[in-house]
Amino acid sequence: MLANLHNADIPQPVLDVIARLRELGHAVYLVGGCVRDMVRKVHPKDFDVATSALPEEVQRAFRKVIPTGIQHGTVTVVQGGTHVEVTTFRSEGDYLDGRRPSSVAFERDIVKDLSRRDFTINAMAYNPLDRDLADPFGGQTDLQAQLIRCVGSALERFSEDGLRPMRAVRFAAVLGFSLDPDTRDAIPATLAVFRKVALERVREELTKLLLSPRAEGGLLLLAETGLLDVFLPEVARATPEAARLARAAVQAAPNDIEIRVAVLLADLVDRAQARDIGLRLKFPNKVADLVALLVETAKLEERFSDTDSSLRRLLARVGLPQLPQLLAVARARVQVRAPERLPDLERLCARLEALAAAKPPLVPKDLALTGGDIMATLAVGPSPIVGEATRFLMDSVLDEPALNTAEGLKQRLQAWQSARTGA
Ligand code: ATP
Ligand code: MG
Repeated sequence: MLANLHNADIPQPVLDVIARLRELGHAVYLVGGCVRDMVRKVHPKDFDVATSALPEEVQRAFRKVIPTGIQHGTVTVVQGGTHVEVTTFRSEGDYLDGRRPSSVAFERDIVKDLSRRDFTINAMAYNPLDRDLADPFGGQTDLQAQLIRCVGSALERFSEDGLRPMRAVRFAAVLGFSLDPDTRDAIPATLAVFRKVALERVREELTKLLLSPRAEGGLLLLAETGLLDVFLPEVARATPEAARLARAAVQAAPNDIEIRVAVLLADLVDRAQARDIGLRLKFPNKVADLVALLVETAKLEERFSDTDSSLRRLLARVGLPQLPQLLAVARARVQVRAPERLPDLERLCARLEALAAAKPPLVPKDLALTGGDIMATLAVGPSPIVGEATRFLMDSVLDEPALNTAEGLKQRLQAWQSARTGA
């Protein structure tokens, strides 16, 4: 394990920052996720540096710095074109609201800093110049045993910060680890604290879980621990079989957040509920709208005998750019719910793709007549009748795309007008 650390590929600017602080006599380490990942032989997403130097000492030690979160002790050092986050060793005062500490204090000792961290595997520090690993809570042993275990008492740590249980399950899913029994048992006991956490933070963890290689297991663990019922009761309260199918379908779906959320919800809620869930979890409006649309249209297995004009209406509803996501949602669902229907589904997908490739007119701006042309043909100014006429023409070309020529549409429009005025 130590060999993995010694052989890790650490970017030169990060090493330079560590060397400079060390030269000034400060204690300095890589900490958190990057140490965990290096021990696992996974290249870290980012390298976080922790030091005994005070923020103003860090600022003075480098030419170019950005005081990112100076009150929390974080300074971004711009070194060799890259940004390196350097945070002063910290300890935290009591948590009074289940969300954030009442105070933070700067510390001289790395162990103090590590002891405020969430899990043993995230509470290791490594100095690559001295090849010095600080692992006071058995992080290496837990990595080897593939266990997520709180630093110290799980009940206390989960009562301090209600997000931690969600992070525990997220890390279990992302890493394919299990929860240590004490850590797991502390989750149901501290759900009241979890309820206070901002849903935006919950959503960030949920997103990482859903996009992990073990999303299915992660969702099951969320359900078993009672976390899911707090932010997704619609899924948590589904029948066991419906919930199982939804989880398996998520696992079968491609790694895309909109697809995976839609697959999770498609057979449990309707369009409006899906949109409400998306907004409740503070997904961007665009994401909530797309998830709702995918949930509404997901059941392609009900459309095997649809006519081309009905499928073009579906394309118009979904929008061509979203077609690949719709097909992915349908495939994942059918794969777990009715695999024998996959060949029929694939035929339908091919039909939809062929219809889309023909670039049929799907929205008013695809019509061969502009709004101005329509007004001229009807000899009217701007009025509600123009909207009605546009809808009529859209309806006509969705049935018969070949009608979409200026001449053809003018004739249809005149016939439509005479029929109306005659009536
Ligand atoms: P990832 O690879 O997903 O970014 P990470 O371990 O870097 O994983 P972050 O959320 O970026 O996770 O947090 C960085 C480090 O900060 C963690 O490794 C952990 O030591 C500490 N940490 C983050 N959130 C908490 C928390 N809620 N309570 C205690 N420590 C935390
Ligand atoms: Mg990180």
